[in-house]
Amino acid sequence: LTKPKPLIAGNWKMNGLSASRHELDAIIAGGPTAAGDRADLLICPPATLLAGFAAIARGSVLAIGGQDCHPKESGAHTGDISAEMLKDAGATAVIVGHSERRADHGETNELVRAKAEAALRAGLTAVVCVGETRAEREANLTLHVVASQVKESLPAGASPGTVVIAYEPVWAIGTGLTPTVDDVAEVHAEIRGLLIGAFGTGGLGVRVLYGGSVKPGNAAELLAVPNVDGALIGGASLLARDFLAIAAAT
Ligand code: PEP
Repeated sequence: LTKPKPLIAGNWKMNGLSASRHELDAIIAGGPTAAGDRADLLICPPATLLAGFAAIARGSVLAIGGQDCHPKESGAHTGDISAEMLKDAGATAVIVGHSERRADHGETNELVRAKAEAALRAGLTAVVCVGETRAEREANLTLHVVASQVKESLPAGASPGTVVIAYEPVWAIGTGLTPTVDDVAEVHAEIRGLLIGAFGTGGLGVRVLYGGSVKPGNAAELLAVPNVDGALIGGASLLARDFLAIAAAT
């Protein structure tokens, strides 16, 4: 089985207004040169921009995704957005279990799994985020925490092509800090082992992204680590120039 095609995914978080369209246009225009056929490109804008961005990106190299979804298809859940709504708006993927949602909204592995299952139900790829806090790393609990998050957040009925795991150490997000390449390799190998346990050899085809302070200057080194099949990028995905430079490093 061959290595999966890398995925370069941007998470815009709570950033972006309609004027940010020029960054989207620049990513669409520069994507073919930056990534060629080597990598898939995904941008997850805030929900307010999703349908408009998906319409602009249709037929281009760039896919559009959501940042979160509710487990249910519809109903009395004010302010929430279902996976079916994201799909209807033109999304092909959704991030679930980002550490900011786990922290800000008390999301548990069980809820994250329900959201990932909703994504699959709607026909979206689920990008499931896992990662240890600084205290957990200092207590040597990294592999234990990440393994339980993967096992407990992995959606039932997933197939290798419909799920992506993003390993994002919480202490590396938005801080400019990154783990050493050896530490990244160790965690990604652990995740790969769990995916092979879940999917057999199909687990070799599941993309495992690294996320946490990926920038143009460190992307090549991080993307070259064994079992790293792309990146999930926060801050540096807001500027087309940086996002495309990272894509070019695949
Ligand atoms: C993220 O939050 O998914 C992330 C990786 O952020 P940053 O790249 O800004 O560290």
